Amino acid sequence: MSQPPADHSCDHDWVQILRDKGLRATVQRVTVLDYLHHHPHADAETVFQGVRSSLSTISLQAVHLIVQDLSGEGLIRRISLPDSASARYETRIEDNHHHIQCIRCGRIEDVDCVVGHAPCIEPSDTRGMRIVEASIVFRGICRDCESVASKGMKNDDR
Ligand SMILES: [Zn+2]
Ligand SMILES: [Zn+2]
Repeated sequence: MSQPPADHSCDHDWVQILRDKGLRATVQRVTVLDYLHHHPHADAETVFQGVRSSLSTISLQAVHLIVQDLSGEGLIRRISLPDSASARYETRIEDNHHHIQCIRCGRIEDVDCVVGHAPCIEPSDTRGMRIVEASIVFRGICRDCESVASKGMKNDDR
């Protein structure tokens, strides 16, 4: 599954991390951060569905505002991917990692930066801009989809 490496799944003290940013450590913010930490690349709707059992009064609109605030403060990273109308969020912010996405089922995996720092590729012409990052999404077909596809082909032969 698409769990981050073990060194990213250590328990974060979200209350302290929020306070260090000068933010109020509300139960809603802490719960959203914790959910995203264990379910990277979730969109606001997915977060809402995931936290509503423990936060009965939360609304989808509130989740949208929380992820906006948290990404604005740099506590989570907002990523947009091809074929995905809604933005995804993740707590792995401390590195310049990229994403690999299956073009069949849409699953998303983290992949370390090719070079180790941003931007990992330089454009042939910067057009006078100072380049901050290269937004790279590798796209492919995952093993599950590949095996479904090859099984399908065998059946078609008969
Ligand atoms: Zn797939
Ligand atoms: Zn990621």
